[in-house]
Amino acid sequence: MLEIQRMSTEDGPGLRSTLFLKGCSLRCRWCHNPESISPKPELRWSGSRCLGCGECLSACPNRALSLGAGIRIDRGSCDGCGECERTCPGGALELWGRSMTAEEAVAELLRDRSFFGPDGGVTVSGGEACLQASFVQETLGRLRSEGVGTALDTCGMCTEFRLLRSAEHADLVLYDIKDADPDRHLRNTGGDLAVVLRNFRLLARPSGDRARKRIWVRTPVIPGLADSPGMIEGIARFLVESGAESVERWELCAFNNLCREKYRQLGEEWELAASPLMDADHMDRLVDAAIRAGWPADRIRWTGMTAAGGTVGKERLGSPEPGIGRRSWNEEAPCARDRNG
Ligand code: SF4
Ligand code: SF4
Repeated sequence: MLEIQRMSTEDGPGLRSTLFLKGCSLRCRWCHNPESISPKPELRWSGSRCLGCGECLSACPNRALSLGAGIRIDRGSCDGCGECERTCPGGALELWGRSMTAEEAVAELLRDRSFFGPDGGVTVSGGEACLQASFVQETLGRLRSEGVGTALDTCGMCTEFRLLRSAEHADLVLYDIKDADPDRHLRNTGGDLAVVLRNFRLLARPSGDRARKRIWVRTPVIPGLADSPGMIEGIARFLVESGAESVERWELCAFNNLCREKYRQLGEEWELAASPLMDADHMDRLVDAAIRAGWPADRIRWTGMTAAGGTVGKERLGSPEPGIGRRSWNEEAPCARDRNG
């Protein structure tokens, strides 16, 4: 697992604790949580916290650290043992990722139950949570039997077996649909759109003794890569045909590049580090495109930062009801799937 984020208002209804797991089946060019892609623990170094004492160099049993302009990490030699993290007096070295049983996760999550209220609960997210289907099934099952509301956040890129297992005890599924064009989807995410859509239908339609799931769909809107009205119309047509009865809301998440520091801390270049924010009028036009294609206006909204008159987070069209029913507004929030913005 990566971390538990508390008091979240963006990963389902009410106040929630979100359990982020490591390991993803997609490689989205715009990924906001690059630390969640690899299933292995990963070390990051924050220069602003480093005291320059050199304690970490001698603590590392694998000689994976050296001194350059800052602390250099030889990621091929680092096995994630955590010795340097424990030794560092400044808190400059931090491991992303640790092992945890479902029982341990539930015990930790249940400490938060006093703030869940009647609508909130726990969301399991990723990375791609379904890659750890047994863990997710057990964790959500235990939480549900404790009376805690449960949600699964997935990109749908996994086997049917893993998806159904992971979703079994989820009251709600947050489902990413990132495009309607298979070639562009493959180019931008590395994943097969047919698998994503097939898995969506599995959840959205009842079958035998399996009831249809409540679903909230999310679509990232990325400048120049995935931001056309045609793309939104394509997704809308799919949702009208396959999700009209299960999808309670559809959220268009405007891109931001606040996560660029995380790429830097992982020692990676990010092609979108200097990309601009979306324009609020353009986000409005995407909502219009979805409505034109037949999607109900009271079940779509957009969120996220936009460039509008030199400011970000400018509110549009008055004050909305939080949640469903708003045609277009901006909550000054990054896309709901962001861990740290
Ligand atoms: S996590 Fe372990 S192996 Fe990796 S740099 Fe730190 S001490 Fe060395
Ligand atoms: S132990 Fe921590 S503070 Fe000291 S040099 Fe290493 S990273 Fe910097």
